[in-house]
Formats: sequence, structure tokens, C-alpha cells
Amino acid sequence: MALPRTTEEVSRILALSYEEEFPVIPRGAGTATTGAPLASEGGLVLALPLMNRILEINSEDLVAVVEPGVVNGRLREALAQRGLFYPPDPASFRFSTIGGNVATCAGGPRGLKYGVTRDYVLALEAVLPGGEILPLGTRTLKGVMGYDLTRLLVGSEGTLAVITRITLKVLPLPPARATLAAGFASEARALSAMQEVLLSGILPAAAEFMDEVTLSATGFPEREVRGLLLFEFDGPESAVAEELERAEEKLRSWAVFLKKAEGSEAENLWEIRRGISPALKKLGARRFADDVVLPRSRLPVFLERVKELSAREGLTVACFGHAGDGNLHVNILFNDEEEKALLLREKILELVLELSGTLSGEHGVGLTKKAYLPAEVPPRGLSLMRAVKHLFDPKGLLNPGKVL
Ligand SMILES: Cc1cc2nc3c(=O)[nH]c(=O)nc-3n(C[C@H](O)[C@H](O)[C@H](O)COP(=O)(O)OP(=O)(O)OC[C@H]3O[C@@H](n4cnc5c(N)ncnc54)[C@H](O)[C@@H]3O)c2cc1C
Repeated sequence: MALPRTTEEVSRILALSYEEEFPVIPRGAGTATTGAPLASEGGLVLALPLMNRILEINSEDLVAVVEPGVVNGRLREALAQRGLFYPPDPASFRFSTIGGNVATCAGGPRGLKYGVTRDYVLALEAVLPGGEILPLGTRTLKGVMGYDLTRLLVGSEGTLAVITRITLKVLPLPPARATLAAGFASEARALSAMQEVLLSGILPAAAEFMDEVTLSATGFPEREVRGLLLFEFDGPESAVAEELERAEEKLRSWAVFLKKAEGSEAENLWEIRRGISPALKKLGARRFADDVVLPRSRLPVFLERVKELSAREGLTVACFGHAGDGNLHVNILFNDEEEKALLLREKILELVLELSGTLSGEHGVGLTKKAYLPAEVPPRGLSLMRAVKHLFDPKGLLNPGKVL
């Protein structure tokens, strides 16, 4: 493993890789769920945690410039001290790096109102296979000079270049924030209620959903609850109060309980949400975890059909996630029944495409979704992707075997 401290060191490692023809696998904190930062075909892991300086926070320009190893949560804290805000909030924000977030185009609950990582990347410094250092993008909020190579690198999972510096757009920190938890007697009622809130013109920062299986794993205290919604509202104090009131009004006839929370109480509810992934281990030693996205109107039919499929196969499936933007984490939990679980996974992924969804909203392709890429991307799209990979990395030495 190499642990460079500077762009020049990254450049020298990539030059050596091209001379000696050994693979290089970029890595941030290694939290990817798809196997993307693994040296699955051997080679040198190029880990970036030591390139962890926040180089600039500029309130006038509303930008932050960071090295790739800066942990998302640390940037968030540094910005908050200056009254600023970087919205992308993967549940792994306490340990995943901005470099990894950019390379996977990470999302999170706040995607509903604020979008995902790609919406905040203005400029990058990247080191190309062979060692050339390439600045891309601008530090301005707009810029359309030529093809958008900056965005091409966002979500490229370390297969095109190593990102060594990132210029991010940031926002003023919303002065007020509030959480509203709503429990329902059924999963379907939870999704219908969410749709009613969102159709009423309210745009929460987040609208998260947990199904019955997920709730049982997290040990959620209210026993009669079979589906849960967790909303976050942010903005000026009066606007937050008004949105909360209107949302409560919409939810009252659907929910079995409603709970408003602020400060540490709200943080505890969000901790339960962030702890789902580890909590699911209780229900199965192994799992296939997908993060599919559906057009929001199709979530109820998707969930119903997933439950039918899982009951038919006799396997436990937990569905939770950023339902407000249609993104559900579908976890098939199993012990020894790998073949059965794989078959069920294929049926669920087919269903996603049948309902005009996508097979990954934020975790990317890595190794675990590679086989499914041709099901979603047409052959010409795939051949263009291969040609792009070849242009950047003609010897195929950067994170080989991932994505394509
Ligand atoms: C408990 C848990 C919760 C999670 N929740 C979310 C969530 O809510 N939303 C979400 O989007 N993801 C989530 N993830 C997945 C993961 O945290 C994200 O994909 C995250 O962005 C990865 O960051 P990392 O620093 O760990 O990168 P790594 O896992 O180390 O790497 C991820 C990919 O980026 C590449 N890469 C890393 N750094 C660079 C660089 N500097 N230059 C080029 N390529 C690079 C790697 O090669 C690899 O392909 C979660 C993971 C866990 C374990």
C-alpha cells in the first residue's frame, strides 16, 4: 500500500505503474459497499487518508477546496463554524472521504432537496494514468467551456484518474432544522403518506423510509409500527415551523404516531437511521445489498412486489432509504441460501428496470453490479464507456476489473 502526501507523489506512483505495468487501486476510507476499492486483481493500493488538508474555505465565493482524504464529517464541522454547509451526507459521513464521495458520486438523505455530490463539484485536480497532472473545471459557479470532464470523473470509481484536489460549491448553513418521525400501521400507508406530503408543495431536506423488517432489526421501540418515515426540514426558523405544521397536518390521518424532535433527540433518531446497515447483521450473516432508484410514484408497487417475491422464496428482505428521491436500499439477508438469494436479487433488479428505475443511485457499480451493467446500459453506451476508459487508461492499470 502506498500512502502519498502530495500530488507529486501520486504522479510519481502512477508514472512508475505505467513504466513497470502494475495496477494501482485508489482508496479513500474503504467504505464502498461494491468492492470498488479492493485490489481484486492484485496491484498497489494507493490510499489517500494522509492527503487530508482543508486548503481553503471561502465565504465570499462560496467554495471549499480540499484534498481527497478529508473526511466528509470533518469538512462539515469546519464549514459549520463559518456558517456554511456542504449538503451531501452519506450515512458513512463520519468516516468516508470527500475523494471517495466524489469518485462514487455519493448521496444521502438530503439528496431530495439538495442533490448529490455531482451537484457540488466545481473543479478537480486529477492525476492521469502515466502520471500527468490535469486541472479540470473552474472555481466559478457556472462554466461551459467544452465537454464536462469534471463530471465525467465524478462517479468514475477510480477507474479513470486519481483525484488529488477538489473544489466544492458550498451553501449558507440553514439557521433552523427540525425532524419529524411518523409511524404507520403498514408500509403502504407510510409511502402513501409521504407522497401526500411531497405533493402538497413541501420540500423537506430529507424523507427517509424504513420497512417492517428494518424496524425489527433496529429495535425501534413502537411495536405497532410497520413502516416509518423520518423527515428533516431546514431553512429559516419561521419556514421550518410552517413546513412542520403543514406536514403534521397531512400525516395525522395516516400515522399511528407523530414525533417532533430537535437537537440531540433528533440526532438520536438519525443515528438509528445511520445504524441500519450494521443492525441488519442480526437478521442474516450475509446479504446482497442494492441501492435501486424508482420513479417515486412507483415505489408502492415496487415494494409490494418485492415482498411477494421474498415471501415466495422464503427469504428476508429489508427495504429502507431515501424514499423521498425514490432511492431504496434493498437488502436480501441470508445464511447458506446463496443460490436462492442470487435468484431473488436478479428478479428484484429485473423488476426495477421494468418499472423504469436504475440499479444504483449512489453506491456505484464496483465489482458487485458489474454483471448487471449491460441490463441497463445499451451496447452503444457500453462501447462508448469502454472507449473513454481506453482513452484515459490505455494499459488498463487503474482500478482494473471495476465498473466495466
Ligand atoms: C455504513 C455505511 C453507510 C453508507 N451509506 C452511504 C450513503 O448513505 N450514501 C452513499 O452514497 N454511500 C454510502 N455508503 C458507501 C460509501 O461510504 C460511499 O461510497 C463513500 O463515498 C466511499 O468513500 P470512501 O472514502 O470510503 O471511498 P472508498 O470506499 O475507499 O473508495 C470508493 C471508490 O472511490 C475510489 N476512490 C477513492 N478515493 C479516490 C480518489 N482520490 N481518486 C480516485 N478514486 C478514488 C476507489 O477506487 C473506489 O472505486 C455507505 C457505506 C457504509 C459502510
